[in-house]
Amino acid sequence: MSSKESNPYENAMKQLESTARLIKLDPDVHEMLRNPKRILSVSLPVKMDDGHVKNFQGYRVQYNDARGPFKGGIRYHPKVTLDEVKALATWMTWKCSVVDIPYGGAKGGVICDPKNMSNSEKERVTRRYTAMIADFIGPYRDVPAPDVYTDSQTMAWILDTYSQIKGYQVPECVTGKPIALGGSEGRNNSTARGCIICAREAAKQLKVPLKGATAAIQGYGNAGSWSAVFLQELGVKVVAVSDSQGAIYSKNGLDSAKTLKHKEEKGSVVGLGGSEQIEPEKLLELDVDILVPAALENSITADNARNVKAKIISEAANGPTTPEADSILERNKVLVVPDILANAGGVTVSYLEWVQNLNRQHWTEEQVNAQLEQKMVSAFKACYETSKKYSVPMRSGALALSIKRVADAIKLLGIWP
Ligand code: GLU
Repeated sequence: MSSKESNPYENAMKQLESTARLIKLDPDVHEMLRNPKRILSVSLPVKMDDGHVKNFQGYRVQYNDARGPFKGGIRYHPKVTLDEVKALATWMTWKCSVVDIPYGGAKGGVICDPKNMSNSEKERVTRRYTAMIADFIGPYRDVPAPDVYTDSQTMAWILDTYSQIKGYQVPECVTGKPIALGGSEGRNNSTARGCIICAREAAKQLKVPLKGATAAIQGYGNAGSWSAVFLQELGVKVVAVSDSQGAIYSKNGLDSAKTLKHKEEKGSVVGLGGSEQIEPEKLLELDVDILVPAALENSITADNARNVKAKIISEAANGPTTPEADSILERNKVLVVPDILANAGGVTVSYLEWVQNLNRQHWTEEQVNAQLEQKMVSAFKACYETSKKYSVPMRSGALALSIKRVADAIKLLGIWP
């Protein structure tokens, strides 16, 4: 860690502390929320394609389940750390509470480099990981989902491994599955759909007309690339996007379909015809109306926050803004729609998927999207109003609302024994 602010769990605990002061959180509840309820650390020996055995390290952190079963994605990344997974599990807890779905929060991570692994190596890592945590997950315990570098195929392997262990098919044990296995319509692009609904609502509050507005997107994975599609649908011009290989810019706007096609063919957005390459750090500082950070944690920091010119930031990524950067953005009157609200569309449709599975139903995309729209708009309104009530930025409003709900549940449950 280069600086103190780059430890995500410390950041999550700082947010808890300032929210505790704001809402006068019961000190006993605060004490209970300082540590995750359960941390699983698992060692995964996997036979690689060339025959040798490699040991992978995996985690599943279950932060709090007062409001319902643990819920949260699984991330595959070479830079996964336990503190990162702990932070992400904490944010999942607040996220499910913000959109008022009956879940707690968890997160999983495996330290690996999926870009340099074959499909069958990824499958063996996934199955071994699932077997190692199988006693602690399940439809009423903890329901995993995709996150960075995991997808519906990963969920299919988890579903199969879990079901083989149980001896019967348990489609409701994971969300973000392929539709053929009980996945929900609309789940694939729900994180971005929710994020752009938030950007739209924020623009309404600031009276920024969306037709002709400009945007920049950092990260062009699932959330970033679909955000480009939905922004374009609203008449917003996406002038810059980036991925791990670099950033591109075009003042006339980058067509989302062409950009995605180029990324799929070439493995990066860099080199798209009609675009110029820019420094990735410059993307965050462009003079645009809307900025969508859709990559990893700690993108907007004390070092670059003062150069951000966007009026609205809608956080598709988890934890892209450090607390120090938040104070600078607040001073500069940037409206930040925080991650726990802005990227809650994914877990909201995960919840709808789980409800469909438990009831053995399959809804249309229109039915799913209508419920997502309703849940996002009402959560946005609740967070916005809470932020006004306390005269604080929207992140603090969202944290106040969500932590209060979790705290109320903890108090009602009491402590056993
Ligand atoms: N990984 C996503 C997130 O961070 C989705 C989690 C889920 O659907 O459970 O919100």
